[in-house]
Amino acid sequence: MTPQLQISRQAKILMVDDVPSNLIALSDMMTTFGYGVEKARDGRSTLEAVKANPPDLILLDINMPDMNGYEVCEKLKADPATRDIPVIFISALSETENIVRGFEIGGVDYITKPFQYREVVARVQNQLMLVYQRRQIEALRAQDRQYFESLNRMKDQFIRMATHDLRNPLNVILGYTHVLDRLEVAESDKPLLNQSVENIRDSVDKMRTLVTDMLDLAQLETGSHLSLSAVVLNDFLQKCLTSFHVLASQEQIELVYEAPPGDACITIDESYMARVVDNLVANAIKYSPPKSKVTVRAWIKGGCTSIEVQDTGIGIPKADLPHLFDAFYRVQNAGSEQVEGSGLGLSIVKTIVEQHGGQITVQSKTGQGSTFRVVLPMNDTI
Ligand code: ADP
Repeated sequence: MTPQLQISRQAKILMVDDVPSNLIALSDMMTTFGYGVEKARDGRSTLEAVKANPPDLILLDINMPDMNGYEVCEKLKADPATRDIPVIFISALSETENIVRGFEIGGVDYITKPFQYREVVARVQNQLMLVYQRRQIEALRAQDRQYFESLNRMKDQFIRMATHDLRNPLNVILGYTHVLDRLEVAESDKPLLNQSVENIRDSVDKMRTLVTDMLDLAQLETGSHLSLSAVVLNDFLQKCLTSFHVLASQEQIELVYEAPPGDACITIDESYMARVVDNLVANAIKYSPPKSKVTVRAWIKGGCTSIEVQDTGIGIPKADLPHLFDAFYRVQNAGSEQVEGSGLGLSIVKTIVEQHGGQITVQSKTGQGSTFRVVLPMNDTI
């Protein structure tokens, strides 16, 4: 069945005109085309009829006593329940000014008296086709919403399952390494046993980090709620960097901090945002050779807080930059093959920054280094 036929059979049209002969002529014509027709002769009864039984389209005369067509249209457009019903104004041929006004207050089209019947039908069908298409789009959107909601529920279930079913066995494995520690074995077997236990612990650690990262990302994407508070930017960054000074000097990397001026505050989820800074600084150190420099700086400008982590390390090839924040994406370039990682860090970072209403960008040149910049809006209601 074509949409046009479907429209004709189902569409209800409300016709409003204070001259009965106009109504009769129009209504006869519409009925011939298979439309359901209702009639009203003044503004008040129009509003009542629309409320009681909303039509698919209204043909509305402009010149009526008491309440004219514009006033009726304005009232319909002001009410969310009726604002989407298309209104076609009925106007006298000479009333160009009126037609313009009709469009301004929300009319979708007009027909002129005396009626050219084929033109009237064409204009009505046009508008009904648009109504039909809009409803189809709304129905598809509702279907999509339902689909995504069910996917989200599945994701929630997966997170709950994974939390227990993946983490618990890892704890059990770790528990058994303590048993192995206490095992009495021949002196000659001890090195092998110790090495094996260390390898197991190492693998469990990596798996635990991966599981935690995956769960965190899934939870963040599902829309976890940030716990926001105002913190002094300088204190926050100093605290984040505390644990990196030792690591940096072990790797022979100069870690420089350029503090923001004054004691400006930012509103953030401190523990999530600390994860962002930790991740960026850890990467900067991980992907830099000895004797290079990592600089962390922050500043406030134009209502935004910027935090930048710059390194003079191996850099990132241009072709990889667009994918860098994708989950599990790892760059395969010289200098990074020995570095361990899951490829989840930057996608967690991006998700956290975006949940704060901010943006993260990267600039990089192979062999020269990378600069990651986080820009956060300075408002209390993220
Ligand atoms: P990973 O756990 O692999 O470090 P990330 O998501 O943190 O995962 O980073 C994704 C990839 O981006 C890394 O594998 C690395 O190749 C590249 N990368 C991230 N930060 C830097 C950096 N500062 N310098 C060079 N490459 C980087």
